[in-house]
Amino acid sequence: MTDKYNDGLDKRAANYSALTPLDFLQRSATVFPQKMAVIDDDTMLTYQTLFERCCRMASALTSLGVGTGDTVSVLCPNSHEVLESHYAVPMCGAVLNTLNYRLDAASLRFILDHGEARVLFYDTEYEKLVRATVSEMDVTPILVSIERLAGASDQFADHSYEQLLARGEQTTQWQRPADEWDAISLNYTSGTTGNPKGVVYHHRGAYLAAMSDAMAFNMNADTVYLWTLPMFHCNGWAYTWAITAIGGTHVCLRAIDSQVIYQRIEDYSVTHMCGAPIVMNMLLNELGERGQTLSHPVQFALGGAAPPSSVIRKAQAIGFDITHLYGLTETYGPATLCVPKPEWSDLPVEELAVKMARQGVATLTVNDVRVYNGHRGEAVPADGETLGEIQLRGNTLMKGYLKNPVTTDAAFKDGWFSTGDLAVMHPDNYIEIKDRSKDIIISGGENISSLEVEEVLYQHAAISEAAVIAIPDDKWGEVPAAFVHLNQDDGSVTEAAIIDFCKDRLAKFKVPKRVTIGELPKTATGKIRKNVLRDQFRTE
Ligand code: ADP
Repeated sequence: MTDKYNDGLDKRAANYSALTPLDFLQRSATVFPQKMAVIDDDTMLTYQTLFERCCRMASALTSLGVGTGDTVSVLCPNSHEVLESHYAVPMCGAVLNTLNYRLDAASLRFILDHGEARVLFYDTEYEKLVRATVSEMDVTPILVSIERLAGASDQFADHSYEQLLARGEQTTQWQRPADEWDAISLNYTSGTTGNPKGVVYHHRGAYLAAMSDAMAFNMNADTVYLWTLPMFHCNGWAYTWAITAIGGTHVCLRAIDSQVIYQRIEDYSVTHMCGAPIVMNMLLNELGERGQTLSHPVQFALGGAAPPSSVIRKAQAIGFDITHLYGLTETYGPATLCVPKPEWSDLPVEELAVKMARQGVATLTVNDVRVYNGHRGEAVPADGETLGEIQLRGNTLMKGYLKNPVTTDAAFKDGWFSTGDLAVMHPDNYIEIKDRSKDIIISGGENISSLEVEEVLYQHAAISEAAVIAIPDDKWGEVPAAFVHLNQDDGSVTEAAIIDFCKDRLAKFKVPKRVTIGELPKTATGKIRKNVLRDQFRTE
């Protein structure tokens, strides 16, 4: 039998190539050469200039011997240099590893070592942190300083970013990935274990995530996107590539400051922004106190927790239109979104909040979402009541965890990715998260591994047992609280001293805000019953 729809109809160079978001930049430079691609304080770059600078930096990296399979790390606030790295680094075949600048030196050192960083781009704002990080490394990456602060002149780095870029050849040739499954970026997430896991993204997933992101919000060349979400967070949920794809304008933001945000929204006619609840809350409170409203509506994609009715009400009054997203680092950011239905537009705010509190339905590139009951071996009924774990499958799921096959296999067991989030399925096929089975604390949009904090507590000579849980907090959503049992409770070790001990050993956001000294509740087999500790807090 002939196979008429395949015979003689092969994939060829002309009709099939690896999907990569790097094509987006080349296209926008061709279609919109003089259009503003990036506004970054007093630096403005057109698409043509952005493309040329990325090609030059890719060439400069090649001249340093960086290529396929190498890692280039970046420690930098949201700026055009991080955005450029999203193109320049993979354009020379290497993998981009953006770093969270809130981490401490030991965590950064772990990441640089584990990812085998060949080069580290860093903003001089973090020079002290970089010095502390690399001082104890056996193999130090090539250091490249980004000198944006007034009077910055770095004597520590091997190169300055601009001098290195100028050394690159002015060419528009860049290295296309041999395979769309090739890695494009590496993002560390603190999961349930103390050591962060290196989530690897591929070119194909990055391309699809960016397309899906842009379509989810009807973005087009008139889109002006304000970078309130850190670009280091899942590559800015792939909006680093999405905004370029549609030829929109990236407006950078070094730090979260409500007045600067307001001014940029007004000055540049910002249309879209994303962020964690902490950013939205801060913005609404501070704009509200000053009586400021927006002159035009702005779409705000909120991820990390459901927006309560008070937030929706304040947002409406000021001029923000909220969309609720859910996702993980492992899913390139958004995996589901609460798609608004036309009939919701007339609902009173309290009822709207109930609808919008749900994490919603799959994005375009996630094929399936199910809420799975592991004991029964089946998906839970769509009754809005039965609890199960959210599992996902589709084309915007990570390649896997770097150098961690056991954890990768466990995460993808049985053909689904298990999220560790517990939810119900509503009759209209919208999911709603009710709890988390994994041991993480999400404080102000940052993940904290309770295990990592417990490990530090166990280093204290007087502590024999420690348990760390998330407790609710008005400002941060959740904060870590520690329960410890002392070898000898003679009153010499205080709660405050334990907090100070943690401050010396952990990034600030990971330090327990509360410490309770006493007996810890245990199961018959001696496991600490964290659920009992959590319940104590709920009833306080
Ligand atoms: P991200 O980097 O996007 O914050 P993380 O991997 O750090 O992703 O954290 C993902 C976790 O955050 C999820 O597994 C879930 O527990 C929580 N989360 C994300 N979005 C929401 C949401 N909309 N509602 C409730 N929890 C959420």
